[in-house]
Amino acid sequence: MICYLNGEFLPLAEAKIPVLDRGLIFGDGVYEVIPVYDRTPLRLDGHLARLQRSLDALRIRNPNTAARWTELIGELIAKHETADQSVYVHVTRGVAKRDHAFPKDLAPTVFMMSNPLSTPSVEQVERGVAAVTGTDNRWFRCDIKSTALLANVLLRQLAIDAGAAETVLLRDGFLTEGSAANIFVVKDGIIRMPPKSHLILPGITYDFIVELASGAGLQCEASDVSESELRAADELWLTSATREVLAITTLDGRPVGKGVPGPMFRRIHALYQAHKRPKKG
Ligand code: PMP
Repeated sequence: MICYLNGEFLPLAEAKIPVLDRGLIFGDGVYEVIPVYDRTPLRLDGHLARLQRSLDALRIRNPNTAARWTELIGELIAKHETADQSVYVHVTRGVAKRDHAFPKDLAPTVFMMSNPLSTPSVEQVERGVAAVTGTDNRWFRCDIKSTALLANVLLRQLAIDAGAAETVLLRDGFLTEGSAANIFVVKDGIIRMPPKSHLILPGITYDFIVELASGAGLQCEASDVSESELRAADELWLTSATREVLAITTLDGRPVGKGVPGPMFRRIHALYQAHKRPKKG
């Protein structure tokens, strides 16, 4: 597998970074995961804009223009066989003697790799997935897509330990998001999702879903969702670049709505499938 590291394409097994990289020492970096269908990145502009916002928040200079990122990502995609890929882009503050304070004018470390895109199975789409709830004990800058993911890793493991696919997070009695996904709630035909704030990652898939739903005339509302509203939902969905949109059909072992993927899910899933690939011709 070919990856990209600091200006060079090389086999992943040969890519090496110094142990003093601040990404390793402090988790001092940001990343993106970009889904690629038929060799075409989906909503690349959105991913590059979010990368810029994450870098700005960490005060790391963006090492590439959007045009250059587009070129490099295109080259990486071309070096892989499968048409559907998942491109991982990672920028850290760089390599320096260990000290919390960050040195000025450090050259950022840039790493990219691509894997075959593995989207949900037919069974997951048809039957939905299980989720558990967990306390959102992360920091107050969940809007930054940081590589420092320890809390998310521990929260995701709660789901795995319970044989579930995702942990749905609650902070102070309100839904925030999943350990690695945004969460949508459907009640009485209205699609609701927590508003964008420092408490959630502004998902690129979240935006796509809202656009698709609104375009189809479905009512969407960004508003706070309480724990009791979450538990009384007719449908729950999770969204992310690689999982697209999936129905959550049990929450903490209890059925969500009728316990099967609902009619609104089926519509939005069909719209997603119809729009995720580049238009032919
Ligand atoms: N929230 C969190 C915490 C995530 O890790 C992800 C996936 N990276 C998302 C939401 C969904 O974001 P996106 O739709 O851009 O993949």
